[in-house]
Amino acid sequence: MSPAGPRLLLIGPPGAGKGTQAQQLSQAFGVPAISTGDIFRHNVAQETPLGLQAKAFMDAGDNVPDSLTNDLITDRLEESDAANGFLLDGYPRTTDQVRHLDDFLAGHNTAMDAVVQLVADPDVVVSRLRKRATEQGRSDDDESVVRHRLEVYQDQTAPLIDLYTQRGLVVAIDGIGDISEVTQRIMSALASVGVTA
Ligand code: ADP
Repeated sequence: MSPAGPRLLLIGPPGAGKGTQAQQLSQAFGVPAISTGDIFRHNVAQETPLGLQAKAFMDAGDNVPDSLTNDLITDRLEESDAANGFLLDGYPRTTDQVRHLDDFLAGHNTAMDAVVQLVADPDVVVSRLRKRATEQGRSDDDESVVRHRLEVYQDQTAPLIDLYTQRGLVVAIDGIGDISEVTQRIMSALASVGVTA
């Protein structure tokens, strides 16, 4: 049996590069990257009942209601590939989601190993998202929606950093730089708290 991988989560404002780093870290640690945003977008594209419920919230740049999101993450974390570690990207985003995740992990006799905070200046984030809007055509990358998503992040998600800091779990990483450079920073910061690949 392979040794258990870490249980990690990535937190940071929209456009900080969470998705990109999640892919890198998932490979490095051999654990699945689980992005609630990607799962929602997939459901929207397939026009599933979940997608139909989530779409309006996403297009407006609001969080999808906690009840829907929490159910979705429970199902995903119960899949077999997540049994030996995972990397969460974009979840939890609210204190209610933290409580849900805490209960889930406690119910499985486990806990998070570390929380990676990706730090990026709001100006940089806005210009990255503007570029992504042109390249990928994400409907929630429109300028006014982006501003709203940043507000929602400040309001509902940024407080989670304090909460996880109190638990001694946060490593803060400068998210500005080449992709591989940022990955290296994360890997060394994690190694310094005992999380190694
Ligand atoms: P970003 O971090 O760049 O905003 P995501 O792909 O993480 O992008 O999320 C896109 C959208 O999906 C969010 O604006 C929100 O509507 C929805 N979403 C993703 N994750 C969650 C979550 N954990 N709780 C509520 N809504 C979420």
